[in-house]
Amino acid sequence: MSNYRIETTCVQGGYTPGNGEPRQIPIVQSTTFKYATSEDMGKLFDLEASGYFYTRLQNPTNDYVAAKLAALEGGTAAMLTSSGQAANFYAVFNIANCGDHVVASSTIYGGTYNLFAVTMKKMGIDFTFVSPDCSDEELEAAFRPNTKAVFGETIANPALTVLDIERFAKAAHAHGVPLIIDNTFATPVGCRPIEWGCDIVTHSTTKYMDGHGCAVGGAIIDSGRFDWMAHADKFPGLCTPDDSYHGITYAEKFGKEGAFITKCTAQLMRDFGSIQSPQNAFYLNLGLESLHVRMPRHCENGLAVASFLKGHPKISFVTYPGLEGDKYYELAQKYMPNGTCGVVSFGFKGGRKAAETFMKTLKLIAIETHVADARSCCLHPANATHRQMNDEELIACGITADLVRLSCGLESSADLIEDIKQALEAVE
Ligand SMILES: *Cc1c(COP(=O)(O)O)cnc(C)c1O
Repeated sequence: MSNYRIETTCVQGGYTPGNGEPRQIPIVQSTTFKYATSEDMGKLFDLEASGYFYTRLQNPTNDYVAAKLAALEGGTAAMLTSSGQAANFYAVFNIANCGDHVVASSTIYGGTYNLFAVTMKKMGIDFTFVSPDCSDEELEAAFRPNTKAVFGETIANPALTVLDIERFAKAAHAHGVPLIIDNTFATPVGCRPIEWGCDIVTHSTTKYMDGHGCAVGGAIIDSGRFDWMAHADKFPGLCTPDDSYHGITYAEKFGKEGAFITKCTAQLMRDFGSIQSPQNAFYLNLGLESLHVRMPRHCENGLAVASFLKGHPKISFVTYPGLEGDKYYELAQKYMPNGTCGVVSFGFKGGRKAAETFMKTLKLIAIETHVADARSCCLHPANATHRQMNDEELIACGITADLVRLSCGLESSADLIEDIKQALEAVE
């Protein structure tokens, strides 16, 4: 499939049925697989042969969808996880151990920030957070001898900052470590980070890839380009024998193309077990089949709504990287020339009270803790995800009390704008 364009890969990538086989990906709803001899099964346990024995480790339905994701991102191997949180945890923990350090963008998704700054810190992994706009000197100063990775988001949720992927990749590689990019908001239809030097891509497939608010899921895709053996001292988990797997050295046995995902499956999925159910993988694939058709519409609606809000007298600011004049417009043009995403954030001249009135007057756009769905939805962080913070604390994390995050779905942009218009009329 690798020679086809991204539209074709969205529809047909990852699964090519043989004569008389199901046209749609079969849902292999089975925890286990049958073998004729113990020797046959032993080869699987030794990673001597590839095949299925227990769905916690591998399942055919998941593998078809993972293969499609690898093709979409231009990687060599991929795996599905139960959620985006699990994907980001596995991607980092696969190469960073207790005593190690990671450089991360400060504007990443709140759930990932908490995973890194609180939970993984308890596991002995230190994170230094740098602004995506930091100078080269500031970025350089964030590295330590025990740094094992650099982490950022193509378009940050919900800050909507755009990462200069090439610049961060260059800094990571100068220190002999990989760049991990969470590409959830851009999707491979908008940006393929591997083409800009990124080594490992992660996704919350819960968002645009599913696109219908139907199944929580995540994915990790390896570019197959990072040379672990060239930095063997930094990555003993990949470059020295794994005693918990019969002394296999992943980087030797599976090469640059397969080592990262094989280790992640054989160790982390084996031990933590955050698998995606085959049923959810099937739903994810249905979403992927139309991703290339849906993304341009999300972007079109996002731009139409952002442009409308920008000129409105009751609106104090609009953040949308696809809008000319936005702080990240130039970077967005470089990395996502065909559109960014459907999420827009904005504030009200009337402050918190105006935001509250606006939210409750909306008719078509629903209040939800979600984004990237076919149905438009919005959230007032000061009254929801960031409710426990006072106004000063909100400002410190880049959110004001009047900020509303709106995720534009696939409806008519004229209907969305009419709904926004009537809600703005109720605002003082
Ligand atoms: C939602 C989200 C996550 C977490 O994903 P879940 O599927 O909810 O676990 C991670 N990163 C980004 C950018 C997200 O938007």
